[in-house]
Amino acid sequence: MTVLEKNIAGFGASGRNGGWCSALFPASTASLEKQHGRDAALAMRRAMVSTVDEVGAAAAAAGIECDFVRGGTVIFARSDTQWRAAQHEVDEARSYGVDALELWSADRVSARDARGAVYIPACARLQPASLVRGLARVVEQQGAVIHEHTTVDSWQSGSVRTDRGIVRARHIVSALEGYGATVAQTKRRVLPLYSLMVATQPLDDAVWDAMGIAHGQTFSDGRHLVIYGQRTADNRIAFGGRGARYHWGSAIRPEYDRVERVFDHLVATLHDIFPQLPELEIEHAWGGPLGVPRDWHASVTYDPATGIGSAGGYVGDGLSTTNLAGRTLADLITGADTELTRLPWVGHRSPSWELEPLRFMGANAGLVAMTVADAEEQITRRPSLIARAMSGLIGH
Ligand SMILES: Cc1cc2nc3c(=O)[nH]c(=O)nc-3n(C[C@H](O)[C@H](O)[C@H](O)COP(=O)(O)OP(=O)(O)OC[C@H]3O[C@@H](n4cnc5c(N)ncnc54)[C@H](O)[C@@H]3O)c2cc1C
Repeated sequence: MTVLEKNIAGFGASGRNGGWCSALFPASTASLEKQHGRDAALAMRRAMVSTVDEVGAAAAAAGIECDFVRGGTVIFARSDTQWRAAQHEVDEARSYGVDALELWSADRVSARDARGAVYIPACARLQPASLVRGLARVVEQQGAVIHEHTTVDSWQSGSVRTDRGIVRARHIVSALEGYGATVAQTKRRVLPLYSLMVATQPLDDAVWDAMGIAHGQTFSDGRHLVIYGQRTADNRIAFGGRGARYHWGSAIRPEYDRVERVFDHLVATLHDIFPQLPELEIEHAWGGPLGVPRDWHASVTYDPATGIGSAGGYVGDGLSTTNLAGRTLADLITGADTELTRLPWVGHRSPSWELEPLRFMGANAGLVAMTVADAEEQITRRPSLIARAMSGLIGH
């Protein structure tokens, strides 16, 4: 096996994400059911839940130290609207019978204004860079060759053209995720959406006790514009969120990784959720592009006739989903007919994103809509009409 990598292994989102190894899938169970039927939707949910443990087991078996702790996720409901949505989410999950979500009452959580929380057991906290660098080491030990600093320009059945020459291969898998937008062949198949993060100084256990976040736990709240936090192994808050704007032509540039306005907003959001926090020193701040397909539906594809496959479109849920994609591709390429190859994301084809300027207008309108939807809910105390109207664009 040969891996062609433009930078270094782990340079992309896999090396710099929020470390939520979750069972989340970018398309909701209800939308999977609508598109693929109930059995297929439930099979996808079961595969996602078991993948959380699979990532931890695979890392342990390979001797990769990546701080994997399956502490679950706490999603605070910080308004009446979020609380009603939380109750609905738990009821819906119970009706599907796969995800064992719990509804926690207000006395179990310490976030400001929390009416309660949804607790999702199927999520582990981990250190993503340690995982991806460890995986790179393991695949090399098993005989794979990783060509770093090698840029893929295009591919066709049997060969891949790079800036350093042509590589011949019987099976080819593109796994570029957000960076697919920088390659002509996949340019409109994915939209690079930036997510930015900060990491604080290590905090005393007493502070974490006051926040009510246990070791290995991840946390968020019920707002539309996604935020995500984890308690790191060394007691820092690693906290991120979306909200950085989309750049014309799906451009990806190093300077887009750092936006002071977004970093400041993340710190203010932490203080808003946890007023008990002391002054925070931001010791690390970074960001990167994740990949959004037009219908927010991740997919794995493989065509035995051409030997060409792909995996991606995970939005912000790629940490575990990449593992499931890898195992599924192994079965597809070897021609095995398994539970994995029958999952509904196999062979799914998302529509392409619009040409510019529509793509620019739509993506940034979607980001603004999510912010406005959160403000709207605070004022009206009802589920946002804007979020509903924009659901085709923002993936709800
Ligand atoms: C800040 C942030 C936080 C996130 N938090 C979470 C989270 O907590 N949980 C979660 O599940 N998901 C999260 N995600 C999403 C998750 O990280 C991604 O979905 C996942 O890592 C995608 O993995 P990948 O291997 O498909 O793509 P990537 O890890 O992005 O890898 C793509 C690789 O392709 C390389 N490349 C680019 N162009 C070329 C080319 N032309 N030729 C060759 N190589 C090329 C890149 O250098 C890169 O290494 C987050 C993403 C970001 C950015």
